[in-house]
Amino acid sequence: MLFTIKWLSNLFPEYKGPISDAPIDNVITDSRLETENALFIPIIGERFDGHQFVYQALEHGAKAVFWDKKKELPEHFPDHISLFFVDDTTEALQLLAMKYREEINPKVIGVTGSNGKTTTKDLVASVVKSSYICHYTKGNLNNHIGLPLTILSMPRDTDVLVVEMGMNHFGEIEALSRIAKPDYGIITNIGESHIEFLGSREGIAKAKLEITAGMKKDGLLIVDGDEPLLLHEQTGLEKMTCGYGKECDYQIREVHLSIHGTRFTVSRGGEFSIPLAGRHHAKNALFAIAVAEKLGISSTEIKDSLASMENTGMRFEMLKGKNGVSIINDAYNASPTSVKGAIETVKQLAGYEERVLVLGDILELGSHAEEMHASIAEVIEKPITAVLTYGEKAKLISESVKKNRRDILCKHFDTKEALLHELPAYFHENAVILFKASRKLQFETFIESII
Ligand code: ATP
Ligand code: MG
Repeated sequence: MLFTIKWLSNLFPEYKGPISDAPIDNVITDSRLETENALFIPIIGERFDGHQFVYQALEHGAKAVFWDKKKELPEHFPDHISLFFVDDTTEALQLLAMKYREEINPKVIGVTGSNGKTTTKDLVASVVKSSYICHYTKGNLNNHIGLPLTILSMPRDTDVLVVEMGMNHFGEIEALSRIAKPDYGIITNIGESHIEFLGSREGIAKAKLEITAGMKKDGLLIVDGDEPLLLHEQTGLEKMTCGYGKECDYQIREVHLSIHGTRFTVSRGGEFSIPLAGRHHAKNALFAIAVAEKLGISSTEIKDSLASMENTGMRFEMLKGKNGVSIINDAYNASPTSVKGAIETVKQLAGYEERVLVLGDILELGSHAEEMHASIAEVIEKPITAVLTYGEKAKLISESVKKNRRDILCKHFDTKEALLHELPAYFHENAVILFKASRKLQFETFIESII
């Protein structure tokens, strides 16, 4: 049970229908979910208005419903359903999450940043789980609806809540932070994602630092120590840094990358390994190490749980394809920083003769798009052996590589079919192929057809 209908009526005092100690076990916004004892919150979105689906929600087990006061109630609405009238259903969801989090009062770890939020969240959760009852964001539910729903699916005995916080615009992280009220706020890095809306990297840093707005006064901010934009801002909170630089509180020293993952040593002692390949992932893991030590988790527990962490799919996922070719599925999403990070990792992997990049468009770059696509070519050099691109903007990567690097095979494709036709040329044991593009390009479809 999350709470009772009576508890809800104290928060939302305008209601109709029965008020009792009947339990609410689930809070849902999707009427298609089969649940028991659910509270259905109809969200008004760009394309749909959840109020339309209230009967479906009731059929699927909802016992209580939020209802926008301005909307007419459907005729013959059943009397045995508890109905709460609110000014705005999305705001009511957020308020409910805030109150429920207050009541359960877990330690909260909030994770934001341009890249690596989901991975860091998963790393933090796998370490925390070793010693505490831990609830955390499933997949990527990191926005103004996903974060409250994450809170509202937290069991009452939760000790530690780990939430991912995402954004496109100013003000969004602040709002999420006020709902979640983190004890620990992690900013993984500052990249270029959403520069279209935020203007500059300084703007992006400012937007991420909004995480401090809702943090507890005695909270700890843990940031990317290699990012100058995060080091000097006065936030009034204690700050700790993680990174490669000598000045970092937690510093990564030696790093070894292979297709099995990354091994690295840390200034404060110890060697760690994670089943994710990439220097940036070692840094993501460092945030988990720092937080875990603050929570009193032993170094053996930290090491064991990092080594066996489960990664949310399509994030530098290593697979074996036809003829033993190694495939890296990083098709979940792409930003200039993450594309360059992935390419650097492919360059550093031990043991391949052929290293092939299959790259697609990076979206949401606004007027910076052309310059940023062309800039990807700066990191494409030997030992990369081939670059295959698909997409209007990705063509600029090919063109730029062609101009500067005659030693690298470079082809652009106008259709996915043509690219798919080319791929088998690289299917052999000594080759590794990276697939990376923005979500909309659905590069996983290539992978599905070749493994
Ligand atoms: P989203 O904004 O889509 O939720 P995210 O911040 O949750 O993304 P992840 O899903 O963890 O990020 O990773 C997305 C991509 O960024 C992956 O390709 C991953 O390899 C890369 N990446 C992860 N961590 C970092 C990092 N610290 N620096 C640069 N790139 C990173
Ligand atoms: Mg994410």
